[in-house]
Amino acid sequence: MTRTIAVVGAGVAGVGVADACRDEAAEVTLFDKARGISGRAATRRRNGCRYDHGANYIKPGGDDWVEGVLAELGSDGLADIELPVWTHDADGVIAEGRAGDGPKWTYARGITQFAKRVRKRGGASVHTETRIESIARGSDGGWTLTDTDGETYGPFDELVLTPPAPQTADLLAATDWDDDRLARLHAAVDAVEFRTIRTVLLHYPFELDRPWYALVNPDRDHPVGWLSREACKPDHVPDGEGLLVAQMAPDWSVEHYDEPLDSAADAVASLVAALLDDDRLTEPDWVDDQGWRYALPDSSIDADDARCAEDAGLYVAGDWVAGEGRVHLAFENGRTVGQRITGQE
Ligand SMILES: Cc1cc2nc3c(=O)[nH]c(=O)nc-3n(C[C@H](O)[C@H](O)[C@H](O)COP(=O)(O)OP(=O)(O)OC[C@H]3O[C@@H](n4cnc5c(N)ncnc54)[C@H](O)[C@@H]3O)c2cc1C
Repeated sequence: MTRTIAVVGAGVAGVGVADACRDEAAEVTLFDKARGISGRAATRRRNGCRYDHGANYIKPGGDDWVEGVLAELGSDGLADIELPVWTHDADGVIAEGRAGDGPKWTYARGITQFAKRVRKRGGASVHTETRIESIARGSDGGWTLTDTDGETYGPFDELVLTPPAPQTADLLAATDWDDDRLARLHAAVDAVEFRTIRTVLLHYPFELDRPWYALVNPDRDHPVGWLSREACKPDHVPDGEGLLVAQMAPDWSVEHYDEPLDSAADAVASLVAALLDDDRLTEPDWVDDQGWRYALPDSSIDADDARCAEDAGLYVAGDWVAGEGRVHLAFENGRTVGQRITGQE
C-alpha cells in the first residue's frame, strides 16, 4: 500500500526525506512558505550577479559523499571554491587559515541547485508559498494540515516537520492531538536554541583581489562573523565587479535586525573597509540583505525525544536534529527519516 507523507519545509532536509522515498511505495508532498525550495541554502539574482546569501558551500569532508551524492546529481556547474578560508580576530588581524581544508562545493547557478536536483530526481510534489499554520490528527490516525489561507491538506499517513526548531515548536503548539507524546516532543523542540545572522551584501564596480575566498572570526568576538568574495564562485559575479557577503555576528545581528538596510549597510561597509584596510569599500554601489532570525542551531534535540512520536507517524528532521548547521548533515538527516518511514532502516 502506498503511504502518503507530508513534509513541512522544502529545505535540504525536506527534499532529503523525499529523496529517500523515491523508489518506495510512498507519495511525498512538500509544503514551503517560501516562493522556492532550498530554505537556508539560498541563492538570489540581482543586477547580473548571483549570490548565495545563506549557506556558502557544501563541505562534506569526505570523498564518499561527493561521489555518492554530488556526482550522482550531476557535475555540470558543480564547482570547488579553491581559494582558502582565512581568519580574523577581534582586532581585525587577518591570518592564514588551516592548510588542506578540503573542497568547498557550490554551483555556478547557485547553491539552490543541490535541492533542485535532489527534488527533480525524486519527483515529489511541492506546494510553495504555503505556510502551514496548524495540524490535526484525526481519529483514524491521519494528519491534516491547514495553511494560513484556511486551505486544508490530507489526511496523510505520516508527517515530517523540518522548519528550524523554534518554528517547528510553533507548529507543535498549534497541533490538535490529545496525547502525552505531543507535549514531550514540543518541550524538547522548544528547548533547542538558534542564533540570528543578518547577511549584508556589498557590491562594488571593481574587482577585489585577495589571496582568500573568505575570512571567518573563529573567536566570535568581531562584529563581522564571516566575509566572503562571491566572485570566487564561477558565473556569480561579472568580470570587473566585486560582491562581498558579510554575515554579521549574532549580537550585532540581533541589535541591528530591524534597522533599515541603508543605514545597516553603511555600518557594515565601514566595518568591512576597516577590516580589509581599504577605504573604497565604505561606498558600495548597491547593497542587499537577508535576515536569518533562525540561522544556525546552537544546540540539538535529544535523539529519543526527537523520535518519541514516530510510532504515531509524527517525525522531525533538519540540521537541529542532526546536531549542526550543515547542508549535507541536514540532507542526510532528512534521508534517514525517509528511510525509517519506508522501513529501509
Ligand atoms: C547565513 C548562513 C550561513 C550558512 N553557511 C553554511 C555553509 O557555508 N555550509 C553549510 O553546510 N551550511 C551552512 N549553513 C547552514 C545550512 O544552511 C543549514 O544547516 C541547512 O540549509 C538547513 O536545512 P534544513 O532543511 O534543515 O532547514 P531549512 O533550510 O531552514 O528548511 C526549512 C524550510 O521550512 C520552511 N518553513 C518554515 N516554517 C514553515 C511553515 N510554517 N510552513 C511551511 N514551510 C515552512 C522554510 O521556508 C524553509 O524552507 C548556513 C546557514 C545560514 C543561515
